Amino acid sequence: MDKPIVSLARNENIELAVIQALDQIKLPNLNNKTILLKPNVGREVGPKLGVNTNPDVVSAVFNYLNSRFEAKFLLGDSPIINTDTNKAFISSGYSNLINNNKLQYIDLDDPPPITLKIPKGRVIKDIKVTGYWNEIDCIISIPVLKMHMHCGASLSFKNLKGIIYKRNKIKLHHLQFPEIIAQLKPNLNKVKELDIAISDLSHIIKPELVIIDASYALEGMGPSSGNKVKMDTIIASNNFLAADIIALALTRQDWSLNDVPHLKLISELGKKNPKSYRDIVTIPEDFQKFKRNLEAPPTTITIKYNNVRFISEQACSACLSTVTNLLKNNIEFIEENYTSDNPLRIAIGKGLNESDLYEDTFLIGNCTANNKDSGIFIKGCTPVESSIIDIIRKKIEERK
Ligand code: SF4
Repeated sequence: MDKPIVSLARNENIELAVIQALDQIKLPNLNNKTILLKPNVGREVGPKLGVNTNPDVVSAVFNYLNSRFEAKFLLGDSPIINTDTNKAFISSGYSNLINNNKLQYIDLDDPPPITLKIPKGRVIKDIKVTGYWNEIDCIISIPVLKMHMHCGASLSFKNLKGIIYKRNKIKLHHLQFPEIIAQLKPNLNKVKELDIAISDLSHIIKPELVIIDASYALEGMGPSSGNKVKMDTIIASNNFLAADIIALALTRQDWSLNDVPHLKLISELGKKNPKSYRDIVTIPEDFQKFKRNLEAPPTTITIKYNNVRFISEQACSACLSTVTNLLKNNIEFIEENYTSDNPLRIAIGKGLNESDLYEDTFLIGNCTANNKDSGIFIKGCTPVESSIIDIIRKKIEERK
């Protein structure tokens, strides 16, 4: 059989689900290798919110593999900008794993980076990745299943963006290749440079094994502000694309790969690559019983408060998370100081239209610098929440 195999298991005891899912597939030989366990720990948030990978899943994966292979295990990630790696791991429940002396916890951003060439890349020809790159024989991607405003969904391949060194991740959000976009648009209308850049990475980075954590998935406004959904499900495969396709088939039945353009682009890179769930064998065969529809990510952001006007045009996840958290954490303050007639205006991203801006619009982040004369510019990439709120308070005082 040529078709890739994807294994699924569901159990409230998520460790048992991991064991079952891994028991059902033939694992690669990991003996004598240095293996990076790569969860998604991109943000400093609490555990089991569907934002970072559930540490119980990572722990179960490690215990399973460590008992079967003589290998060196590394555990690490590089979070979004302005996020401390240690704090992200500790806040999301990884203390026991970090202190487990049978594996080595690493901050992927610690050593100086290594530059990898991507000769076949369409929009990126080289990329700076973690300085640990040459020590790693294989990567095991352990993402959390989540909807994603910029990419449709974030699954096992998107998770590998954490291999990119520090702020080099942001460069993927700033690429401009209008001619390539114009060529692709007729068949892939949601495509952006970011999607092409992620698919370019697949020429040089391939996980050996993926275990998708859908213990708690994230629906709606992912990658960080959606709602968690308990699914108690694990999806495992040696074929990352097949695993991602099945994860989508479970959670967005009305979608095709066109809705997650980076996966569509990767699927087109090889004739044998799966294009839909029909090209994949699942264990068990009837994967429909694992279905759980997740709310799609919004295409535009609507903030629930009628006293806030928020514009996001071509911003990356870091500014988006900062602003959504700021609004969440300061509801009372906003209620006290703004009304629907006199709203708090916030704009982020490099694609803003001057005509949408007012002189009292807070232009947050360096990406808005081109429009800085059209509002109140707050520099930083991304500015921290406390400094933004301080500036907003100061402006309110001045207004009084
Ligand atoms: S300023 Fe904000 S949107 Fe722009 S790259 Fe920095 S974090 Fe992303």
